[in-house]
Amino acid sequence: MKDSRVVVIGGGMVGAALGYGLAREGIETLMLDEGDQGLRAARGNFGLLWVQGKGADFPAYARWTLESCRLWPDFAAELIELTGIDVHFRQRGGIHYCLDEPELEAYRLELAQQAAVSGTDFEYQFLNARQLARLEPHIDANIPGACYSPNDGHVNPLFLLRALHAGFLARGGHYRPRHHVLSIETAQDGFVLHTDQGPIRAEQLVLAAGLDNCRLAPMVGLSQPLTPQRGQLLITERLPRLLNYPSIYLRQTGEGSIQIGDSSEQVGLDDGNTPAVMAQLARRAISLLPALRHRRIVRGWGALRVMSPDGYPVYEQSRTPGPRVHAFSSHSGVTLAAAHALTLAPMLLEPALSPELDAFTPQRFKD
Ligand SMILES: Cc1cc2nc3c(=O)[nH]c(=O)nc-3n(C[C@H](O)[C@H](O)[C@H](O)COP(=O)(O)OP(=O)(O)OC[C@H]3O[C@@H](n4cnc5c(N)ncnc54)[C@H](O)[C@@H]3O)c2cc1C
Repeated sequence: MKDSRVVVIGGGMVGAALGYGLAREGIETLMLDEGDQGLRAARGNFGLLWVQGKGADFPAYARWTLESCRLWPDFAAELIELTGIDVHFRQRGGIHYCLDEPELEAYRLELAQQAAVSGTDFEYQFLNARQLARLEPHIDANIPGACYSPNDGHVNPLFLLRALHAGFLARGGHYRPRHHVLSIETAQDGFVLHTDQGPIRAEQLVLAAGLDNCRLAPMVGLSQPLTPQRGQLLITERLPRLLNYPSIYLRQTGEGSIQIGDSSEQVGLDDGNTPAVMAQLARRAISLLPALRHRRIVRGWGALRVMSPDGYPVYEQSRTPGPRVHAFSSHSGVTLAAAHALTLAPMLLEPALSPELDAFTPQRFKD
C-alpha cells in the first residue's frame, strides 16, 4: 500500500479543479475517480460562468462567485498555455430573460439586493426592447424583460474538464480512474481508503465526490447534506450565429450549436431524460428564439445537480486534532472552478480555511 500526501476523492468539476490547484502548489496529489458509469454532473452541465441572480440572500456566495469570474480570464489563459486545450472561454456578458411581468419585478428587487451585498464589481443593466434588439436581434421582441450583466460568461464544460485533468497531470498529479472508494478508515497518521482496487493510504484527504460526499463524509466525522436535482438539456445542429450572449435558457456554443436548458426535477438518482421535459424546453426555446423552429435537435440528456438544502456550496474542514480532511460540494462548479483551483486549493495547505468561507460550513443547517 503506497502513501500519498494528499488524496482527492472525485475527478469531477470540483475535484479536478482542487486537484489542479494542489498540484499547481507543488503538492504530491493523487486523484481517485470512478469509471465512465459514475454519476458526474461535470459531464452533463450547461457551461455557464454565471454571476447575476446569485447570492442576493447569501452575501458570501455573491462575493465568492464574483471572485471566481474575476479570476476566470487568467485561469483560461493558463489552462490553454499549459495544456493546449481551448475551453472556449467567453466573458462578454450574459442576459437573463424574464418571461412575465411578476418575474421581472421580482428580478429587479433581487438584483438590487445582490448589488448591495456584492460591492461595486457587480454590474448589471435592465434592457428595454430597443436595447435588447441591439444586443440580440434574433430574440423575440415581446419578451417582457431582460437584464444584461458584463460579469457573466460561458465555456465548453467538457473541454474544461479535460483541461483540468490534463493540467493536473502536466503539473505532476497522479490520476487513477475506476477506483471507487467504498469506505474510509481514520488512522493515527492519516487515512486508509478502501477502494474496489485495494487500499490506498493518504496523509491528507479531500472529499470531492459530488453526490457521494453525502455517504463518505460521515465516515470521517463530517456532514455533507446533499440531494440530487435533475436537469435536462438539448443541443441543436450547428447553426449560423443567432446568439451573441449566453442565458440560463440558451447559449450558442463555439461550434455553433444552440444548447437549450434549464429544467429541474426531484427524481432521485435517475439521470435519464423524458419527452415531456424535452418538449417543454424546446417550446420555451422557440418562444425566445423563433429562428429555432424547424431546426434539428441532435442530442438530449439528463444530469444530476449536486444540491445542498439551500442550494449553496458546502465547504467543511476537520476541526478535531489528527489527520486533516476537507469536504467540498457545490452546484455551479463550472463558475467556481477558477476560485476552487486558484484560491481554495492553496488554503488546504494552511492550518485553516479563510474565515471568508465560514458561511459555507454545514453548521448553517443546524443553527
Ligand atoms: C444539468 C446541469 C446543468 C449545470 N449547469 C451549470 C452551469 O451552467 N454552470 C455551472 O457553474 N455549473 C453548472 N452545473 C453544476 C456543475 O456541473 C456541478 O457543480 C459540478 O459538476 C459539481 O462537481 P463535483 O466534482 O462536486 O461533482 P461531479 O461533477 O458529479 O463529480 C463527482 C466525481 O466524483 C466521482 N466519485 C463519486 N463517488 C466516488 C467514490 N466513492 N470514489 C471515487 N470517485 C467517486 C464521480 O465519478 C465523479 O467523477 C450544472 C449541473 C447540471 C446537472
